[in-house]
Amino acid sequence: MKKKKSIIIAVSAASLLCLAIAVYSAILPKKTSVDFFSMNTYITVSAEGKDSPAACEEIQKLVNNLDSGVLSRQSEESEISAINSGGGKMSEGMRRYISDMLGIYEASEGAFDFALGSVSDLWGFGNEPHLPADAEIKAALKKSGAGKISINGDEIAANGAVIDFGAAGKGIALDEIKSLLNSMKIKNAVVSVGGSILLYGEKDFTVGIRNPEGNPGSYIMTVSTPAAFVSTSGSYEQNFEENGKIYHHILNPETGYPVQNELVSVTVVSDNGLASDALSTACFVLGAEKGMKFAEKYGCEVIFVDSDKKVTVSDGIKDSVKLTDNSYSFAE
Ligand code: AMP
Ligand code: MG
Repeated sequence: MKKKKSIIIAVSAASLLCLAIAVYSAILPKKTSVDFFSMNTYITVSAEGKDSPAACEEIQKLVNNLDSGVLSRQSEESEISAINSGGGKMSEGMRRYISDMLGIYEASEGAFDFALGSVSDLWGFGNEPHLPADAEIKAALKKSGAGKISINGDEIAANGAVIDFGAAGKGIALDEIKSLLNSMKIKNAVVSVGGSILLYGEKDFTVGIRNPEGNPGSYIMTVSTPAAFVSTSGSYEQNFEENGKIYHHILNPETGYPVQNELVSVTVVSDNGLASDALSTACFVLGAEKGMKFAEKYGCEVIFVDSDKKVTVSDGIKDSVKLTDNSYSFAE
């Protein structure tokens, strides 16, 4: 069984950023960092500015509360657990998240489908990954899909589908963290939640995109960008081998099986956290050609890495991407 944690760009970003902040901290001595585990993933926070110690503390509280109280299907007290087991009134936050995700579901023609929880559960990712019986997948797929969700004002019914924040929750957390930082005295900050990163402040940032074949600390390219959200989805994040075949966690909503295309990772740069996270998953499902058009429609920049080590980059960030591993090259 192969299983790698999704710290993708987070780790390399942290190490690249350390350099930038090391220079910076001579003038701005208020840099504080904290690492913790929540939302089933590793979270790292690095902030500079007068309120940075308080920000580190508040971010931990925010993420833990968002996870256990709102987004986590594992938490019996969460809002999403209540919705999945019957529906009801949505909080203002949930209404916004669901409405944004439904928009991406529709615009991606179902490639981003956040109501595949029953199908994902069959595969056992994060638990005991295994190949489910084909009949089980077909039966679960029938009951699934964001198209089953009905909304009336702030009332929602999932109608048997299971809503899952696996593909957008990291970005949602980063949107909430950005709002929190806006209310504090923070000059620059970098927060990573699994494979999604918030780059906050007025400086330019450089992040590394993880080597799909290497360990989490090695990267194949760097991207320089002003403040943004950067999310990566990769088939190497969670996968297992059975009967000589590798199965990963990003599902084709039409079949209920892992997406099989040319891609190994997709990175999306956006000014919105939810969009960066959801679109990295959606573009993985869509493949490079359709995914490129889709990202463009959302005003996002995107980087596709395929299994032949070819890299395709959207026009808006072409000049900001530098390949650092010479076994990779830009697609023609
Ligand atoms: P990410 O790592 O952001 O690409 O999200 C992957 C996670 O989202 C998986 O572990 C599943 O929980 C869920 N997921 C899998 N396939 C899809 C899909 N096609 N649309 C939305 N969520 C998905
Ligand atoms: Mg995602």
